[in-house]
Amino acid sequence: MEYLSTRGKFKRVSAAEAIRLGLSPDGGLFVPAQVEKFSREEIMEKKDKSYQEIASWILKYFLSDYSSREIEESVKAAYSEQNFPVEKVTPLKKLDNNRYILELWHGPTAAFKDLALQIMPYLLVLAADKSDVDDEIVILVATSGDTGKAALEGFKDVEGVKIIVFYPEAGVSRVQKDQMKTTGGSNTEVVSLQGNFDDCQNAVKEVFSDKSFKAKMEANSYRFSSANSINWGRLLPQIVYYFSAYFQLINDNAISEGEEINITVPTGNFGNILAAYYAYKLGLPVNKFICASNDNKVLTDFLKTGVYDIDREFKKTISPSMDILISSNLERFLFEMTEHDSEQINQWYKELKENNSFKIDQETLAKIQAKFVGQFSQEDEAKKAIKLCYQDFDYLIDPHTAVAFDSLNKYRDQSSDLTTAVIDSTASPYKFSRAVLEAIKNEKIAVDEYRIIEELKQLSGTEIHRAIKGLENMDEKHKRNCSKNKVKEELKDILAI
Ligand SMILES: *Cc1c(COP(=O)(O)O)cnc(C)c1O
Repeated sequence: MEYLSTRGKFKRVSAAEAIRLGLSPDGGLFVPAQVEKFSREEIMEKKDKSYQEIASWILKYFLSDYSSREIEESVKAAYSEQNFPVEKVTPLKKLDNNRYILELWHGPTAAFKDLALQIMPYLLVLAADKSDVDDEIVILVATSGDTGKAALEGFKDVEGVKIIVFYPEAGVSRVQKDQMKTTGGSNTEVVSLQGNFDDCQNAVKEVFSDKSFKAKMEANSYRFSSANSINWGRLLPQIVYYFSAYFQLINDNAISEGEEINITVPTGNFGNILAAYYAYKLGLPVNKFICASNDNKVLTDFLKTGVYDIDREFKKTISPSMDILISSNLERFLFEMTEHDSEQINQWYKELKENNSFKIDQETLAKIQAKFVGQFSQEDEAKKAIKLCYQDFDYLIDPHTAVAFDSLNKYRDQSSDLTTAVIDSTASPYKFSRAVLEAIKNEKIAVDEYRIIEELKQLSGTEIHRAIKGLENMDEKHKRNCSKNKVKEELKDILAI
């Protein structure tokens, strides 16, 4: 399997190179050159297999330059019972006859990003081994919350790698901050930055593009890499759970073999829903993809009109991981939808850079709309959805999942399409306890976050996620703090260069 850049100005690379490089040097993203459908028989053969076996099957297809043994060992270590202490790794919960929740938050940090970030470090270290470069890898992360902790846990104590996370001092929740600051491991660093998430992201981008800093790093045998979803190594592992969900539906007699399903994804960077689309390209029977957004509904508008327009107010919501205007993985999707037309992609992204918007042609739009539906939920609608789901099904959902649940319900009302639907649940409700409890009680709650967590437990009778339990009393291991224009100095200090 070879990989192409969406911008078409870089050579084809192997999977290992795509993962090691992260972003293509021409500014594009790597995508598989050719994805063939598995036959119905080949897919159905896997229906009684374990999550680990399904993962190995998918990864082997895309990582043809990794040995079977490398893949199997990585899968075994990443999806161990210790990391995902539930049967099936991503269990499916039935709400009613045609709505199912796919719980993607049983990993070490209580968000779906663990599914990718638990295995990506193995894939990256193997990729580095396959190249001639034996510098130490430095993973730089700017986070608005969930990615930082998931990346820290994934890369903690991985040999040959250092991980440094920058988060905005006032831009993350109490739980998210505590989760990051208490991370153990001898190769982890967490820095609180005096600024907002954009300052963090800009500071990190600025470091990535500084040639003299890069030279200084290389002179000291260090090399930067990235752990966000522009990296194919982060997207790929997410394809697996869509097959797992499908097989669980079959084994629950909810659908018959070959029957199509609908998939609803609470979307930010378009990574998770794109993974679902790749599962479809591999032959997973899917009727519709429902792309769910919060008040930052750039994608809803795009799917309706074909105009991608980021020239709008950025809104802070109770689903912060979806507060995003530029969905990086949309570029990969458009590349697929135009049959790999990199000239067209260059044109659209040039327009985006110059005018903050672009409009795709009618033909491509029609092709997209045949499979994809955009829906969005405003803040009060998401809150109502949390309450409704709790009342009707005695089941707690976090605000991101609530956006998906509400969007699916709207789609069903408008279309009368009652195809069996999978709703991605991307975070444990305990990760966003305040928003969840306030939605259920329909009032503002003044007490401390950790008291709220206890109250949510009492109310729902569910276990507090282990990622959050006891967090309050854990030692703070990271105390670094820096101003937004001192990031390079901070890095030099950390790396002693
Ligand atoms: C990252 C994240 C999302 C958005 O996922 P994308 O792959 O960026 O679309 C949704 N929900 C939660 C809880 C997240 O952490």
